[in-house]
Amino acid sequence: MIPYGRQQITEDDIQAVVDVLRSDFLTQGPVVPHFEQAVAEKVGAGHGVATNSATSALHIACLVLDLGPGDWLWTSPITFVASANCGLYCGARVDFVDIDPHTYNMSSEALAEKLAVAEREGRLPRVVVPVHFAGQSCDMAAIHALSERYGFHIIEDASHAIGGRYQGEPVGCGRYSDITVFSFHPVKIITTGEGGMAVTNDPELAERMTRLRSHGITRDPEQMTHAPDGPWYYQQIELGFNYRMTEMQAALGISQLARLDTYVARRNELAEEYNQMLAELPVITPWQGPDSLSARHLYPVRIPPEARWSRREVFEGLREQAIGVNVHYIPVYQQPAYQRLGDPLAACPTAEGYYSEAVSLPLFPTLTTEQQEKVVTTLRELVQ
Ligand SMILES: *Cc1c(COP(=O)(O)O)cnc(C)c1O
Repeated sequence: MIPYGRQQITEDDIQAVVDVLRSDFLTQGPVVPHFEQAVAEKVGAGHGVATNSATSALHIACLVLDLGPGDWLWTSPITFVASANCGLYCGARVDFVDIDPHTYNMSSEALAEKLAVAEREGRLPRVVVPVHFAGQSCDMAAIHALSERYGFHIIEDASHAIGGRYQGEPVGCGRYSDITVFSFHPVKIITTGEGGMAVTNDPELAERMTRLRSHGITRDPEQMTHAPDGPWYYQQIELGFNYRMTEMQAALGISQLARLDTYVARRNELAEEYNQMLAELPVITPWQGPDSLSARHLYPVRIPPEARWSRREVFEGLREQAIGVNVHYIPVYQQPAYQRLGDPLAACPTAEGYYSEAVSLPLFPTLTTEQQEKVVTTLRELVQ
C-alpha cells in the first residue's frame, strides 16, 4: 500500500531518542525546553509550549484566550474535528465559516459577511481558528483586519503548515494572530510520534499555557499567592491537565526539525510533478496562491462530474490498486456529535461541494517517482 502520508525516520532520529532513553530524564528534563526554543526560533515566534498533541495545544490556547461558556468559536468546516472540538472542551459553542473555492481555506469574504450578521444579532465570536488547509496559509492579513474591527482573538491551526510561509514570513511568526498551533503526528510535516506545540509572542499567554499543560501547577514564587512554605513547595493556581510532551518525543522533534526545509522543498517538488502529470486529465489540481509557500501536507484533487467515474468509484478504484488515498475532510458540522448539539449551524455550500469531489493523493518526502507514476496511471484510467 502506498499511504497518503507517512513519516521518515533516520538513524540520527533513532540515536537521538536512544540518547534520551539512556539519560536521567524521560520527562520534564532539558530536551523539551530545547525543542520549544528550536521551533520558536525556526518560525520566528517568541515562545513555544510543547504538548502531547496539537489537540491539547488547541485546548489550552482557547483557555488562555478566556474562551468559555456563552462564547462562540468559529472555524472552517474543512478541517480535522480537533480544530472545532477545542471550543466545545471550553464549554463554548462552535460555528463554521464557509471556505474559499480555490484554496479551500476559510474564506475571508464569508467571514466578513458572517461577522456583520453576528454583530447585529449580538453573537460575535470570541475566538476564530483559521486552518491552513493542506499547508497553505489562510488570508491572514484580511482575517486579522477583521479581528481588529470585531474584537476576536485568532488561533492559527497550522497543523499542516510548519515550514510554510506567508507574505515572506514563516507561518507561526504571529504577525496576524495570538497563538499558532503545530501538530507532530506522523502524517504531518515533521513528527514526534504524538505531539504538538503552541507558539506565541505574548510571554503571559506562554506562561499560562505552560502551567495549564501541567495541572495548573507552578514552582515560580512570583506566580504564588504567598511566599513558598519551603523548597518543596508548589501551588496549583488553576485547573490544568497533563498535556506534557516526553523527552523522547522532543529529541525526535529536534532531530526532525533539522530536515524541515528539505521536507517542504521535496513536498513542493512532488506537488509540482503531480500538477504537470495531471494537467490534461479531468481532475482539479490544488491552487497555490502567489503570496505563500505551502508546506504541502496534502495533495487534494477534485473529481468533477465530467470525470468518467464518480469520486466514490475513483476512491475505491485507487484503494483496490493499493493506493492509500483519503478524503480531507468531511465537513465537521455534519458529524453526529455536532448535529446533536442542535445549534442552528450554518450550511457551507462551498465546503459541501468540495467534500463531494475531494480525494487526497499520496504525498510525503520519500514517495518515489515510480510510486507517483503508479498513482497517476491508475487515476488516469479511472477519470478519462
Ligand atoms: C492533525 C490535526 C490536528 C490534531 O493534531 P494532533 O496532534 O493529532 O492532536 C488538528 N488540526 C488539524 C487541522 C489537523 O490536521
